[in-house]
Amino acid sequence: MINIIKIGEIPNKLLRDLMPRLLKRYEKFVEGCQVGTPLELPVAAYDPHRMQYRADIVLERVLHTARGEGKVLALTDVDLYVPRLNFVFGQAQCPGTVALVSLRRLDPAFYGEPSDYELLLKRATKEAVHELGHTFGLNHCSALGCVMTFSNSIFEVDEKKAKFCERCLNKLHARRP
Ligand SMILES: [Zn+2]
Ligand SMILES: [Zn+2]
Repeated sequence: MINIIKIGEIPNKLLRDLMPRLLKRYEKFVEGCQVGTPLELPVAAYDPHRMQYRADIVLERVLHTARGEGKVLALTDVDLYVPRLNFVFGQAQCPGTVALVSLRRLDPAFYGEPSDYELLLKRATKEAVHELGHTFGLNHCSALGCVMTFSNSIFEVDEKKAKFCERCLNKLHARRP
């Protein structure tokens, strides 16, 4: 099961639209997808100087409070970072159960562009499939267009596809219990 939980203001429509898109990639590996109880942002994760939240601290909170079997995908609207990086689109255990994605820098509005729901959904799908891939033990991949490619910028997010390359897909199948 993939449990999607909100941390902050995330439109319900986005959650609903995300579910079939995640299942398209993971239906062979999970029984389904559902929306779980929302979580509060941990105050300790906030850095007032950077005005960002520490992704690893938020992830830790998700790990300790999220209920339910299977994978947990937490979606947040706040900007995330980890030490030595200006920002991250998300973070996950590799392997493990919890994944975290921030929509902040996936939103065209962040770059001063007109809002574009379809583009936001597309980007959110890629990053969610990517972070969940880590929970299944997949590492970063260098195959052109593979969803497990590491994205350092929004251009790189837009360049890749929402699907796994042949090699990553084979790895996923090999890990199937
Ligand atoms: Zn990654
Ligand atoms: Zn790959």
